[in-house]
Amino acid sequence: MPFSFSFNSLSLRTKLICYLLVTSQVSIAIVGVLSHQRLMQKFDSLVMGESSRNFQADVQQYFRTYGTWAEGLQQESFRAFAERRRATMAPDAGGVLRPPPNEQLGPVTESGGRPPPPEDLRRPPFRFYLFDTNFRSLFDLSPYHPGDSIRDEDKGRMQPILLDGKVVAYSSPQGEVNYSALDLGYLAAMRESLLVGTAAGMLLTLLIGVVLGNRLSHALRKLTRAVHAMGQGDLRQRVPVETQDEAGVLAQAFNRMSDEIAQQYEDLRKSHAQIEAMAAQMRELSLRDVLTGLHNRRHFDEQCAQFFAAAQRYQRPFSVMLGDIDHFKSVNDKFSHATGDEVLRRIGQILQTTMRASDLVARYGGEEFVVAFPETDLQHAREACEVLRRRVETYPWHEVHPDLRITISVGLSSDTTVASFHTMLEAADAQLYRAKREGRNQVCSDAAMPAAG
Ligand code: GH3
Ligand code: MG
Ligand code: MG
Repeated sequence: MPFSFSFNSLSLRTKLICYLLVTSQVSIAIVGVLSHQRLMQKFDSLVMGESSRNFQADVQQYFRTYGTWAEGLQQESFRAFAERRRATMAPDAGGVLRPPPNEQLGPVTESGGRPPPPEDLRRPPFRFYLFDTNFRSLFDLSPYHPGDSIRDEDKGRMQPILLDGKVVAYSSPQGEVNYSALDLGYLAAMRESLLVGTAAGMLLTLLIGVVLGNRLSHALRKLTRAVHAMGQGDLRQRVPVETQDEAGVLAQAFNRMSDEIAQQYEDLRKSHAQIEAMAAQMRELSLRDVLTGLHNRRHFDEQCAQFFAAAQRYQRPFSVMLGDIDHFKSVNDKFSHATGDEVLRRIGQILQTTMRASDLVARYGGEEFVVAFPETDLQHAREACEVLRRRVETYPWHEVHPDLRITISVGLSSDTTVASFHTMLEAADAQLYRAKREGRNQVCSDAAMPAAG
């Protein structure tokens, strides 16, 4: 797989450290280079000043010893004179060559005076142009030969050399610095110090960069982790507010936002649960009859259709009963509508306690009740209906009203060969009609004789 790198994919911490490091390292490198340049300039100007003073002193002494340049050349070359003069000098505490106090150098003798100084001390750091008072060259130094007139562009740089208040010559340094071993030693020592200083600075900024980068990105890393956790569903997050800067303000704002979101989510969850509960309640209520608490006709029809389909398909026994309170109209008339309602409620309770949990009981309308008996053949359903009839008849109705007597007539059908459960209910209704006709307070079914009342 080819290696691909994108700076944007780096973490903020890494970027921050990179920026800090690059900035500090470049700054220190620039400071190092500038310091080195400045050092070299200063060093060169010091060496040049020292060298010029020496050269001018050589020329003054040459003139003092021999009177004129031409006279001097006949006795001894200027170079030889200068070397002889160097030999009389001794380095001071700082290593700089100094002439003896009250220097007086006589003309050259046969023996040549003192032995020449070591090569290093003889070589002046610079070479000098030297012109007489008429600006004619006294040296053979490119581009001038002895006797050549000075060029106009060089004239301005010339410095006069005075002897007893009179100008005896003009000179100026030429060419590059010619360091002595001592100078080179100094330079090496200074360069080394500069290098060590720069390296130490770089190392220090490297450490500071890493530490600072880590500290600055610390708060942001915590924030990022908290945001991830929120994304995973853990909405209530808290990041420590450690500073007063933008990171601190951000952390405070994030904590507030997290609290608000968590609170709103909690409220939303609660109201959602309430709505769910209310919806379930509404659903349940829509399936119930308000007066008796039994299931209503709509629910019964839905459920019964399924029971009937299953019974037909798997050829299982299934029965349906339809019950109707006898002479209920006269209950309302004789006692009151409220008493009629109470009778309906109590009939509902008797039905619920009499039938099994697997049976489906419902108020079908007015004073009519229905029961579906899954997995129940005619005989067992009939027994259950008979129990119901007896319990209604023997119920202590005097508790509702001393003169109250209630009985119920029941029609029953177990014929699942018909087209639909509606047809079964019609058959049960026909049996109910028969029970009414034959004296009420009895159970009639489609396949057997009515039970005795
Ligand atoms: P039968 O023995 O032939 O069934 O006679 P019945 O009087 O019971 O029959 P009918 O159909 O003539 O009367 C039924 C009465 O039931 C009529 C109505 O006032 C009453 N009724 C229906 N629903 C309610 C109700 O919710 N509360 C009360 N109190 N009475 C109701
Ligand atoms: Mg009726
Ligand atoms: Mg009735």
